Amino acid sequence: MRTICLIIFFVLGSGAVRSEDLSALARILPGSLVSDVGDTVELTLSMTQGVPYRVFVLDSPKRLVLDFNELDWTGLSAEVFDLSDNIASVRTGPVQAGWSRMVMDLEKPLKIETAWLDTADPLAAKLRITLHPTSEREFVAKARMPPELRENWPVAADLPNPKRRQTGDGPLVVVLDPGHGGIDPGAESDGAVEAEMMLIFARELEEILLRTGYFKVVLTRTEDVFVPLETRVSVARKVGADVFISLHADALVEGRATGATIYTLAEEASDAASQKLAERHDRGDLLAGVDLSAQDDVVAGVLMEMARIETTPRSEMLADALVQGLSKNTRMHKRPRLWAGFSVLKAPDIPSVLIELGFLSSPRDRARITDPGWRKSAAEGIRDALIDWAEADAAAARGLRK
Ligand SMILES: [Zn+2]
Repeated sequence: MRTICLIIFFVLGSGAVRSEDLSALARILPGSLVSDVGDTVELTLSMTQGVPYRVFVLDSPKRLVLDFNELDWTGLSAEVFDLSDNIASVRTGPVQAGWSRMVMDLEKPLKIETAWLDTADPLAAKLRITLHPTSEREFVAKARMPPELRENWPVAADLPNPKRRQTGDGPLVVVLDPGHGGIDPGAESDGAVEAEMMLIFARELEEILLRTGYFKVVLTRTEDVFVPLETRVSVARKVGADVFISLHADALVEGRATGATIYTLAEEASDAASQKLAERHDRGDLLAGVDLSAQDDVVAGVLMEMARIETTPRSEMLADALVQGLSKNTRMHKRPRLWAGFSVLKAPDIPSVLIELGFLSSPRDRARITDPGWRKSAAEGIRDALIDWAEADAAAARGLRK
């Protein structure tokens, strides 16, 4: 039996989604399974009732993406997917308001042969999908994100004019970007989850900044939600950020020691470990099913090019100030200033830095990051650095105008 897959038309809400948005109409049931039958992969998902869904493939890496409206995954065992040699790994989680997503990494190019929602049993709807081998070329031709999904996440290109430079008189608009979230938890180590810890730290830092009366603070996420990297940049541009600070505490990659590090954007990474970190962040988007091929890295236009030329040294100066501020009361990495191609630092007109507060995989760093006293000192160091930077940056702008 051959059925064309069902595509649902709908209006999407805001880009972010929290787990509790999924006041789930349907739940996944035990009895979901995947099996290889000859060349074919057969996938059956049982749920308490039929819900709108869509299924598509994405390339680089090859993924099958399944979205469900209002489906609670609790109870789905990832081990089910070990039964197929064609599926490398699986993750599930909320991805947009009302929609939850399953992403399967494919070992080879496969095409969706059939996708069929069987609602004959009123207590257990079954989504049956069969995948057949296909050529690399055919796979690539079919691999793309449904257009309504692309539109939902705002792109930086919506905002053509560069932001006016801050004057040192305040208020300084600071966008704090707690890394990861939702379907992408980031590093996890000994019960500490990067996405959670960075949200906690961002809220504490927000509080400390607000108390000065000098800052306006906006967070790119305020809950455990998935936000694509490009959307984080767009949020910053939409609110007219003077400064963008991405907050992370990743797992240690080989060749890195512990301690805090400040990153700024560069095409060439300062070392292999930094390059790996930047790739890992992009990979978070990929695993969540974001189609990076549809995104423009660069906000086009001469004005933006000029803005970037002006912004780069301002970001560098901000990063240097942060090293000063943080090293007053926290332990820094032996080489605390590094560079890599982090996508989240690509706003051409906003000084942007990424702070690795430490590495969650290092017991020493983890002990610091999970200690409220340490976090308070770190936040105060960042506050002082921002005030120092804003003054020096405004003085530099006055010098330029003379
Ligand atoms: Zn991270």
